[in-house]
Amino acid sequence: METAEPATSVPSTQEVTAERLKRFFHVLWEPRSYLTAVYFLTAFPLGLTYFVVLVLGSMVGAVTSIVVVGILILLVTIAAAWLFAVFERELAIWLLNAKIPPLSLPEDEILTPWQLLRRHLQRPTTWRSLAFLLVKLPFGLFATWLAIAMLGPSLFGILLPLGDLLSYGPRPETLGAAILPGIPGVLGLTVSFHVLNYVGKLWGRFAADMLGVSAEQHQVWEAKRRAELADQSRRELIMNVSHELRTPIATIQAHLDSLLLPAPDRPEADEVERRLRVTARETRRLSDLIEDLLMLARADAHELKVTTRAVEVAPLVDQVAQSMTPLAKQERRVTLNKDEAPAGTWAMADPDRLAQVLTNLVRNAINYTPEGGVVSLHVAEAGDRVQIGVADTGIGIEPDDLAHIFERFYRTDSSRARNSGGFGLGLSIARELVEAMGGTLTASSQPGLGSTFWITLNEAAPPQA
Ligand code: ADP
Repeated sequence: METAEPATSVPSTQEVTAERLKRFFHVLWEPRSYLTAVYFLTAFPLGLTYFVVLVLGSMVGAVTSIVVVGILILLVTIAAAWLFAVFERELAIWLLNAKIPPLSLPEDEILTPWQLLRRHLQRPTTWRSLAFLLVKLPFGLFATWLAIAMLGPSLFGILLPLGDLLSYGPRPETLGAAILPGIPGVLGLTVSFHVLNYVGKLWGRFAADMLGVSAEQHQVWEAKRRAELADQSRRELIMNVSHELRTPIATIQAHLDSLLLPAPDRPEADEVERRLRVTARETRRLSDLIEDLLMLARADAHELKVTTRAVEVAPLVDQVAQSMTPLAKQERRVTLNKDEAPAGTWAMADPDRLAQVLTNLVRNAINYTPEGGVVSLHVAEAGDRVQIGVADTGIGIEPDDLAHIFERFYRTDSSRARNSGGFGLGLSIARELVEAMGGTLTASSQPGLGSTFWITLNEAAPPQA
C-alpha cells in the first residue's frame, strides 16, 4: 500500500498579508474586546464607590469606636470590603477572563462568628483585596479616561457618517464624506481594542495576585480535597464490592449446604446437577468480578498496560463479530450485522484491549436487545480519527442513566430487573482502556429504540512493508 506524503506548501505573500490583517482586525468581532471596554468604562465609578465607602466607613468607625455604634460601623465596613472584593473577583473573571483562585478556602471546622472574624482579619488575602479596592480608584481614573479617549473619537468617526447615511440615504455626493471618516474610525477602534485588551490582561494578572489565595495555599487545599475524594471512593468501593459479593456467595453457600445434607434430605440427582451448575456459574461470576477489580485497581495506580501500535481495524472488527455470532444467533436470536469496513483504515490501539472493549460492547448490545432485534458494527473515518460504532435496536437507556453508565458499579433499573449477570463494571473498564489508548468512548441512546456506543481512536499510518 502506498502512503501519501503530506503536502507542504509555502504560503504566498498575499496569504501572509491576509493572515496578518485578519489577526489585526479580529479584535473588532471578539466579544472579549467589548467586555474589556465595559470593565474599563465602569472602573472609575466603581473605584470611587469603594474608596468613599471604605475610607468614610473606617474613619467614622474609628472616631466613634468608643461607643457601640462605631464598632458596628467598622464591622459593616469590613463586610462591605469583603463583598466588594467578591464582586471585583467575579468582574475580573467575567470581563477580563482572569484566572483567579478562590478568595478563601473552606474551613474544616464550624466556627463562631467571633472566630470567623478573627480568621478573616488574619488572612493575607483580606488585606491584599482591601489594597486592590483602594488602588482601583487611581486605576479607574486612568482606565475609564483611557477608554473614553480612545474609543470616543473612533466611535464618533464611525457612527456620525453612519447616521447621515441612514437619515439621508446613500447618495453619491455624500458617500465619500461618509466613508472618509469611517476608515480612520475603524482603524482607531481596532487600535483602541488592542491597547485596552493589553492593559486589561495586565490588570487581570494583578487582580489574580490580589484577589485570590496564593497558589501554594490553593495547591495544598486541592491536594487535601483530592485525598478526601480518594478516601471516599475507596470507602464506596469496599461497600459496593461487599454488596456485590453477598448475593453470589449466599447462593453458593445455600446450594453447597443443601448438597451436604444427610442422604435422606438430599435433593434428587437432577436437582443436584442443577444446583452444581448454579454454583459453578456464580463462582465464574465471582472470578470475573475479581479480574475486573484488579483491572480497575491497576488503572487507579496508573499501571494499566496498553501497548499501542498501528492496528488495521477491519480484520479486528471481523474477528469480534465472528466470535459473537453464536451468542447473538443461538442464545438471543438477535441478528449481528457488520458494515463493510473501509479498507486500509488503521488506528493507534492495543489490538487485544481493543478486541476486549469491542467484545464487551457487542455483548451488552446483544444482551439488551430483545429477540428479533439487530446489532450492527460500523467503522468510519472522521478527519484524523477512526470511529468504531456498535448500534443496537434494544431497550435503550434513559437520559438520566446515560449520564452515569460509565461509572463503576452503575446499573440501570431495567438491567437489575433482568438480572443480566454483570456488576456494572464493564463500561467503566472499557472507557479506561480506550482512554489509555488515547481515544474516547461515548454513548447515545433513544429509550425504547436502541443505543449506539462509539469508540474513537487516533488514525495511524499503516506500517511500512
Ligand atoms: P454490566 O456488566 O452490568 O452490563 P456495564 O458497565 O457493561 O455493566 O453497563 C452498565 C449499564 O449500562 C448496564 O447495567 C445497562 O443498564 C446499561 N447498558 C450498557 N449497554 C447497554 C445497551 N447496549 N443497551 C441498553 N443498556 C445498556
